[in-house]
Amino acid sequence: MYDFNKYFEAETLDEAKKILKENPNAQIVAGGSDILVEIREKHIEGLELMGIHKIKELKEISIDSEGTISIGCMATFHMLENNEIITKHIPMLGRAGGVVGGPQLRKVATIGGNIANGAVSADTATSVWAYNSQLVLESADGNRTIDVKDFYLGPGWTDVKQNEILTKILIKKEDYEGFSGEYIKFSQRKALDIANLGCAVICKLDGNKFSDVRIALGVAGPVPIRCKTAEDYAKGLEVTEENINEIGKKAVLDGKPRDSWRASKAYRQQLIEICSQRALTKAAQLAGGK
Ligand SMILES: Cc1cc2nc3c(=O)[nH]c(=O)nc-3n(C[C@H](O)[C@H](O)[C@H](O)COP(=O)(O)OP(=O)(O)OC[C@H]3O[C@@H](n4cnc5c(N)ncnc54)[C@H](O)[C@@H]3O)c2cc1C
Repeated sequence: MYDFNKYFEAETLDEAKKILKENPNAQIVAGGSDILVEIREKHIEGLELMGIHKIKELKEISIDSEGTISIGCMATFHMLENNEIITKHIPMLGRAGGVVGGPQLRKVATIGGNIANGAVSADTATSVWAYNSQLVLESADGNRTIDVKDFYLGPGWTDVKQNEILTKILIKKEDYEGFSGEYIKFSQRKALDIANLGCAVICKLDGNKFSDVRIALGVAGPVPIRCKTAEDYAKGLEVTEENINEIGKKAVLDGKPRDSWRASKAYRQQLIEICSQRALTKAAQLAGGK
């Protein structure tokens, strides 16, 4: 039923790196909620699998003296929803984790798997991008840190090499302090469904004006996107219903949705406009806007 050649269980990060280097056909299993389904459906066959569940440091969520938040790749969605650092400083990410699948899935599926699999519908990908996160990739050949904006290369395709582990997600203080945010997952059903559109918006106010607005969308193009036109337009504008409506219209210019069996391009464009407006309205209210 599950066609794979061998299973390794890494006890330490160094061991995990070594296994990946020595076995060029090996792939990581984190929560297994994507990869095991792919193997069962015979979309992929004959791999070696490596579990990283026993590596404690990969589950840690911490904040350092400079205020940089570090989220280990093995943090589950349940952990994101309930962790004090997340709920205090970057609550939008916790809420995004809270709308993934159902309770059982959220106990096993991880943020690392959600980002590494490159799915455009991944519910945490948009929040991670709105907060300008950096991704740490480690391997036996060395470590590198890349901006999330450079991470998504195409549909289901990311900049993780076979021998690399996405070990943590970093969010700097300047990218969350003073921001408020809202994530909207628009799907046909309220639960256990994949997004027709994911919309993560954070904003910062100076008085009653937007000093910074970030709009990240999922399922609005081949990879998660940021709405640069709308973001640039928003800066310095008064928080009013008219301005928020206009910002939503500008977000449509940034989107590149297509027709699919889930939703038409025109429907998705309408969702981009409306969800951006609603999420920005809520974010502005949370930031104290009038
Ligand atoms: C019933 C069901 C409902 C779902 N609902 C949703 C939903 O509402 N929203 C949503 O976004 N997703 C949903 N998913 C998809 C899935 O649960 C998520 O994408 C999840 O985050 C995957 O994480 P995982 O730990 O299970 O990854 P895995 O399946 O273990 O891995 C996924 C891929 O990422 C790679 N990988 C994993 N971790 C790392 C790492 N640290 N470094 C490098 N590569 C790595 C693996 O090799 C594999 O290729 C659903 C899945 C199921 C089965």
